[in-house]
Amino acid sequence: MSTFPKTNLVALRRKLVDRQLSAVELVQECERRMQRLNPALNAFISWDTERALLAAQQVDLSLPLGGLPIAVKDNICCLGEPTRCASRMLESFVAPYDATAVVRLRTAGAIPFGRANMDEFAMGSAGENSAFGATHNPTDENRVPGGSSSGSAAAVAAGMIPAALGSDTGGSVRQPASHCGVVGLKPTYGRISRYGLVAFASSLDQIGTLTVCVQDAALLLQALCGHDAQDSTSARQPVPDFAAELTDGVRGMRIGLPKEYVSSGNAPEVQAALQSAVDALESQGAEICEISLPHTEAAVASYYIIACAEASSNLARYDGVRYGYRASASSDGTGDIYARSRTLGFGEEVKRRIILGTYVLSGGYYDAYYARAQKVRALVARDFARAFADGVQLILGPVAPTPAPKLHAQDMTPLQIYLADIYTVPANLAGLPAISVPTPQSGLPVGVQLLAPHFEETSLLRGAAALERAWT
Ligand code: GLN
Repeated sequence: MSTFPKTNLVALRRKLVDRQLSAVELVQECERRMQRLNPALNAFISWDTERALLAAQQVDLSLPLGGLPIAVKDNICCLGEPTRCASRMLESFVAPYDATAVVRLRTAGAIPFGRANMDEFAMGSAGENSAFGATHNPTDENRVPGGSSSGSAAAVAAGMIPAALGSDTGGSVRQPASHCGVVGLKPTYGRISRYGLVAFASSLDQIGTLTVCVQDAALLLQALCGHDAQDSTSARQPVPDFAAELTDGVRGMRIGLPKEYVSSGNAPEVQAALQSAVDALESQGAEICEISLPHTEAAVASYYIIACAEASSNLARYDGVRYGYRASASSDGTGDIYARSRTLGFGEEVKRRIILGTYVLSGGYYDAYYARAQKVRALVARDFARAFADGVQLILGPVAPTPAPKLHAQDMTPLQIYLADIYTVPANLAGLPAISVPTPQSGLPVGVQLLAPHFEETSLLRGAAALERAWT
């Protein structure tokens, strides 16, 4: 399909500062692009142009993100705007406050613009679990954009908006970034406040960015991170200048390639992308060495037990009485309202996960499933800790085993869909920062992934920028 050329934040900012473009014109241009492309892509489920124009009129161009419109995934609260998590359950919810990430965007001068479509409550890998309809991949409309940050990735890839926020619980920023051909950054757990991010699995959730290039990811991260007293898991870590070392390169860096990630189950395009990343990093002076992450295979099972367990607890609040969609009253009492509201308000995948999560937490099965999954989680984290202690600074791998699948692929069972998360969930289980960088191959977009030790976003971005340089 015809999309718009993508423009990065850094270039747009220069134009704004040089007065070649006004913030109002930029918002108007984004809105024009949304009007043109959204009917085909369904990347946005709402947008408020008046509000964005008002912000653009008052913008302070001296701020780091002054005048830059940024789309926000529909599970991150934006004051006065619908925040529906692409669910019927929250169809009439209007956020009464801004998430900390959104406050920080505004403080840096950015203009939150557009609520990006997603898999309902961030559960999914294709963008098809949205109560507002599937998002389409801008490269091939018959394919999925990936998920759950489907709209964020598709909107940036199609040039509708220069950057977007997403959330990543098990790959939901990196995987759609890979499928759409944009950069997807999931920072260390605790780096960006989760206050105002609607909880899916609180010990795994992290806000991330979808951008046109690595430099933009650094720019956004700079604005978003820092300790927040409103999130008890927010990290008290110094915030380095992420962009400062971007051009330092990877000469002399040791980068591990896990043998478990070079699997015969990967599609040929994915193997080719990985090989091209190895060549690119070596050409820039890095040393690639084989490592082993022996618990990789168990990570998906551990992730789905923990994520569903936490989801079943987090989503218990949507009962139609205290929160969320309420089915019409009946004479059968409150229990009946709960049951019917949840039956009608939640989609299939959300219900599947609530049932699975309730089961693994139930008295008789807790030790067999939940407690065991936590042990596996510790082993997965230990695999990474050992690799980094043995002297690799970064780890390279695929993002997903295949490029974007076809829309409405009826032949995949939920289990097959879950297994495709094998390369992304380990970073969430271990809380590590990771980034997806698009490879330059023609055809369907395919990204490669880099992972770094906790709070080493600077070296992560440096590695990603080196890949980007080698490929442009
Ligand atoms: N695909 C994974 C899942 O369905 C990841 C979701 C996410 O990161 N939000 O749970």
